[in-house]
Amino acid sequence: MNRTPDTELSQLQQELRSMIASTVRGGILNDVADRIEALPLDWELDPGRGDAVQQLRGWAQEKATAPLTVRVNWAGTVRYPDGSALAHRAVIDGETPNGISAELVVAGDDRVKLAALLDMEVRGIYATCLTTGCGTADDCDPSDPALLGWTRLHVAGTDDEPRWYCSPPCVSNALARAGDELAAVEACNELDGGL
Ligand SMILES: [Zn+2]
Repeated sequence: MNRTPDTELSQLQQELRSMIASTVRGGILNDVADRIEALPLDWELDPGRGDAVQQLRGWAQEKATAPLTVRVNWAGTVRYPDGSALAHRAVIDGETPNGISAELVVAGDDRVKLAALLDMEVRGIYATCLTTGCGTADDCDPSDPALLGWTRLHVAGTDDEPRWYCSPPCVSNALARAGDELAAVEACNELDGGL
């Protein structure tokens, strides 16, 4: 395999090469560590960890049946470097176990698809929407073109005033929050009635 010498690469390319090499190396070694861990402890047991070197050489000959997995832990943050509009990028920050930064970049409709897939399991109804003015209780003019597609929501039975929301998911989250509030009020009423 031809390898371009480092001296012919820019600083950024050298860093990228080193990052890819570390990530692949980390992925392979972690995979092997997982396999060795799964072997029986004792030398006497066949194959056992005592045969680890032999096992390693055997595994090296195996044809890959699945792509190499590199584990990336979420750093707990999502950035919007270009602004939060749907057409822009969302950058999900991650880090591999050996400390290499990894970014998952999701743009456009993929953001909705990803959110929908995540939403099958969890619903972050208290997440803050980054659109300026979303959730405002201001008495805005509905004919304002900036509010095209926005919704003003007032849920009867809650203490909250009517609020403006930028998108159907934000309305849906507001309804879910109101549902929580109403359920809490109902639980209190039942308790009062029982006394
Ligand atoms: Zn919103």
